[in-house]
Amino acid sequence: MTHVGGPSLPQERRLVTEVPGPRSRELLARKQSAVAAGVGVMLPVFVTAAGGGVLVDVDGNSLIDFGSGIAVTNVGNSAEHVVAGVRAQVEAYTHTCFMIAPYEPYVRVCEELNRLTPGDHEKRSALFNSGSEAVENAVKIARAYTRRPAVVVFDHAYHGRTNLTMALTAKNMPYKHRFGPFAPEVYRVPMSYPFREPVEITGEQAAARAISVIDRQVGAENLAAVLIEPIQGEGGFVVPAPGFLPAIAAWCRERGVVFIADEIQTGFARTGAWFACEHEGVVPDLIATAKGIAGGLPLSAVTGRAEIMDAVHAGGLGGTYGGNPIACAAALGAIRTIEEQDLVGRARRIGEVMLARLGDMAACYPVIGDVRGRGAMTAVEIVRPGTKDPDPEATQAVARACHAAGLLVLTCGTYGNVLRFLPPLVIPDHLLAEGLDILDKAFAAVS
Ligand SMILES: *Cc1c(COP(=O)(O)O)cnc(C)c1O
Repeated sequence: MTHVGGPSLPQERRLVTEVPGPRSRELLARKQSAVAAGVGVMLPVFVTAAGGGVLVDVDGNSLIDFGSGIAVTNVGNSAEHVVAGVRAQVEAYTHTCFMIAPYEPYVRVCEELNRLTPGDHEKRSALFNSGSEAVENAVKIARAYTRRPAVVVFDHAYHGRTNLTMALTAKNMPYKHRFGPFAPEVYRVPMSYPFREPVEITGEQAAARAISVIDRQVGAENLAAVLIEPIQGEGGFVVPAPGFLPAIAAWCRERGVVFIADEIQTGFARTGAWFACEHEGVVPDLIATAKGIAGGLPLSAVTGRAEIMDAVHAGGLGGTYGGNPIACAAALGAIRTIEEQDLVGRARRIGEVMLARLGDMAACYPVIGDVRGRGAMTAVEIVRPGTKDPDPEATQAVARACHAAGLLVLTCGTYGNVLRFLPPLVIPDHLLAEGLDILDKAFAAVS
C-alpha cells in the first residue's frame, strides 16, 4: 500500500479487489458510526494517495479520476509546486490572521488574481476559505456599493450551502430541504438551457426573457447584483446559448447592476481558458473563485473593479482563516503549475478528445440526449430514448458501472440525469482514453 502521491504515482488503472474493497468497506462501517449521516459519500473507496490522473485506495486499487475532487485538483493531487510551497510555508509560520498581522503570500495571491482575471481595469481582491463564503462576500460587496438589496440568480444555479447561498441555489434536494427559512431579496429568473428550451431560441432571446422577469418582478433600481455561473456546475453543466452572457452583462452595465460571475467550478483553466467568461469576451464586475485556486487547499476569493471592492468600510470584510498562508502558498504553486505546464491549452485538448468520443457514444446510445461542455468540463445528459425525459436511474446505473470498473465519474443536474467529467488537467492521454473506453462499455452494458 502506497502513501506517497503526486505526479510520480504510477499512472495506471489497477483493480486488485472489487470496488469498494474489504478495507474500504471496513472504513465505511466506521464512518457510519462516527460521521454524521448527512455527510454523504458518492463512492466509498478510502483514498491513501493520489496524483496525475489516479486515486489509490486502501485496498491497493488505482482508479482513474474523472472528478478532481469536484474540479479542485486541476493541477493534479500533490502537485510539485503546491507541495513545495506548502512545505516551506508550514515550516515558516502557519497562521497569524491577515487582519491582525499580515503577510506577503496573501498580497501576492491578490496580485495574481488581479492579473489573471478578465479585464485590464484596476482591480482588488479579498480572500476567504470556501466558495460559499466568496459568493456571500461578493453579494455583501455589491450591496454595499450599490446600496440596493436584491440579488438575481438563475434556474438550476448552485452557489453553496450556507444560509445566503442556499437561498441563491436552485435545487431543493439535497441542498435546501428542511433547512429554511432562507435569506430574503433573492429572485430567480429563467436560464438559457439550450437542450431544454421548448423551442429553439438564441442567447439574446433567452437574455431578454430573463431581463423581462427582472424588470417586472424586481426593478433594476432595487437590484444590487446579477449572479451567474458562466457554465452551470451542479445544475447540470449547462452551457448557455452564445450571446446570453454578453447580453446579461451589457444590461447590468447599463443599469448600474453589479455583474458577478461565480467561476468557482469553471475557473483556473478548467474550461480551456483561465476563466470561462473569456470564451465570450465577458468582463465581470466581480468574480468569485475557489475550488481550482489552490490545488486542493481551502481558499477562495472575490476579485473585481477597484471602485466596487473598495466601497466596503475598513474591517467590513475578513474572517479568521481567510487567506490562510498555507493555502496562499498552495495557490501560488497551483498558478505557477498552470502557467508552466500550459494547462489552459491542455484543458482545451482534453475537451477536444472528450467531446469527440462523447459525440460518438451519443450516436450509438440513444440514452444520451445531449453532449456539452467546454475544455475539461464536459457532460452527457441521460434521457429515455426518443424523448427528453430525464432518466436518473440509467444515469446512476452508468455511474455505478464506471465505478465498478475503476473510473470515478460524478453525476449532477437538476433532474439527477447528467454524468459530468472533470479530469485533472494533468491526466495522461492513455488514462483519458482508457476512462472513455470504460464509459463507452458502461453505456453498452446499460443500453
Ligand atoms: C462548489 C461551488 C460553490 C460552493 O463552494 P464551497 O467551497 O463548496 O462552499 C459555489 N458555486 C459553485 C459554482 C460551485 O461549484
